[in-house]
Formats: sequence, structure tokens, C-alpha cells
Amino acid sequence: MAQLMDGKALSQIVWEETLEEAQAFEAERGRKPVLAVLLVGEDPASKIYVRNKARACKACGIESRVMRLAAETTKEELLDIIRGLNADPAVDGVMVQLPLPRGLDESEILASIDPDKDVDGLHTVNLGRLAAGKEGFVPCTPQGVMRILSHYNVEIEGKHAVVVGRSNIVGKPMAMLLLAQNATVTICHSRTKDLRSYVQSADILVAAVGKADMIPGDWLKPGCVVIDVGINRTDDGLKGDVEGQGADEKASLRTPVPGGVGPMTVAMLMHNTMEAARRHG
Ligand code: NDP
Repeated sequence: MAQLMDGKALSQIVWEETLEEAQAFEAERGRKPVLAVLLVGEDPASKIYVRNKARACKACGIESRVMRLAAETTKEELLDIIRGLNADPAVDGVMVQLPLPRGLDESEILASIDPDKDVDGLHTVNLGRLAAGKEGFVPCTPQGVMRILSHYNVEIEGKHAVVVGRSNIVGKPMAMLLLAQNATVTICHSRTKDLRSYVQSADILVAAVGKADMIPGDWLKPGCVVIDVGINRTDDGLKGDVEGQGADEKASLRTPVPGGVGPMTVAMLMHNTMEAARRHG
């Protein structure tokens, strides 16, 4: 039976660490770290995510400045606001909640954020720094996965890590982080032929696709470690990309959905904001 890796409990530890750091920062600098969060439009899931981020900020001693903008906000208006936040010395981190309403080009908007305030780590400069092994902001979800692996003492060096999914937000930075820790990394995607054969040889499997139960438990290598990033709303509630019951039988460790990777994503945003404040001064 696989041991569950409790991302919720670990996220609490990260929150507490961040709170201590934020309090020390405030005592020294006379202000709290500040995160600006831009929410454009009325997407219900995005509203919940933004509310959760504001709540996490409060618990971590970080001031959140949530700006709610109408779905009709133009590109120029949004770019103007981001330019203002980039130039504002009182703001440490800037993030734009995705997805943006149709008509706003996400890559253009993300590119307008000052890379040194890009606490989501999605600016191409930060993705480039990650690829080159330089210091920068690392996207929160894969960074949270690395923290989970380290907390549960999962050996990475020399292991075969298979990442299913190649988005800029999860799959690609995930693969780079595992590579940086000396895993042998395979990246699979929708055009991969015979996905099963790769999954079967994975010591560490990271599934980041967005299709409920798409990886059956009987594909897994006995004793492997399964990180399930997928969040899929189904009639039976939230599900991951890996079939949970099957994973319980085959894996040695696995993250549950919900309560695995999800809470760590917000926790790493808090961590990155604290880091931004420290660098920014
Ligand atoms: P994207 O839709 O951007 O990427 C999905 C990836 O899955 C693509 O690379 C795609 O390949 C690949 N894919 C699709 N179908 C298959 C298939 N049949 N076999 C193999 N690969 C396939 O999603 P995200 O990376 O943004 O998110 C992935 C999942 O993680 C979603 O469920 C999302 O909700 C969740 N998520 C969870 C977070 C958390 O905090 N826990 C944070 C972010 C995301 P191709 O490139 O070829 O199209």
C-alpha cells in the first residue's frame, strides 16, 4: 500500500516558515512583503484561487493587493497597470491569475512583468534562468513537487523520472528541476507513442495532463513514486491523472488529489514572494 505524501500538512510547514521570515523582514524593514494579484474577468475557479492566495498571504504575514479588473479590460489598460506595479517600490511580487479572458494574449502580458517581481516564475527570462541553472523564480507547482520529494526523502539522482505533460507552467520546468537533481528525465506528451512503456520504467512519475485517471495503476513500476499534478472535476469529485486505487497497490509513495500538489502550489507562491521581498529590500 502506497504511503500518501501529505501536501496539505507540508504546505502548513511552508506557511509557518514564511510567516517567521515575513515577521523578521517586517521588524527589520518596517513593512510587510507585498504581493499584487491581478484578476481579470469573472472566471469562477480563478476567483476561488485568488481568494485562497489572499488568505494564504494573510496567514503568512504578507500583504496582498488584489486588483479585480473587468473582463473587458484592454491589453493597453492591463499593460499600464503592470508597468505601474513594476515601478512601484512598495510592491515585491506581481502575478496575473490565468487564464485571461479571450482576446488578451497571455504570453504578452506575462512578458510585461518585471522578471524580478515575477513570483509565478512564468516570464521567459525566469524559465531561461531555470534552463541555464541560474538563480531566478521557479514556477510554483513544480517547485512544490520538489519540496514534497525532498520532504519525503525521495532519492532523485540516477533515477528515471518520467514527466507526462510539457506545459510551460508544469511539465517543462518540472523536467528541468528533476534534471538539475541528476535524474534521467523523459518528457511525454500527447504525441508520445506507447506512453505505457515509458510509465512502466518510471522510478518517479509526474503526471501533469488534466485527464481523470488516464494512467491506470497497473502501468506503474512496483515501488515507484507517483506525483499526481492533475486536477480534474468529475461527477465523483476531484480526481487526479493517475488512477488512485491502482497506484496504491503499485507505488511506494504517492500524492493524493486533492491534498497533494495543489496546496503546495500556493505555499511556494508565498515562499517566492518572501524571496522577492528579500532580494528587493
Ligand atoms: P496543459 O493543458 O497546458 O498541458 C497538458 C499537457 O498534457 C500537454 O503537454 C499535453 O501534450 C499533454 N497531454 C494531453 N493529452 C495527453 C495524452 N493523452 N498523453 C500524454 N500527454 C498528454 O495543462 P497544465 O500543464 O497547465 O496542467 C496539467 C494538469 O495539472 C491540469 O489538470 C491542471 O488542472 C493541473 N494543474 C494543477 C496545479 C496544482 O496546483 N496542483 C497547477 C497547475 C496545473 P501536448 O503538449 O502535446 O498538447
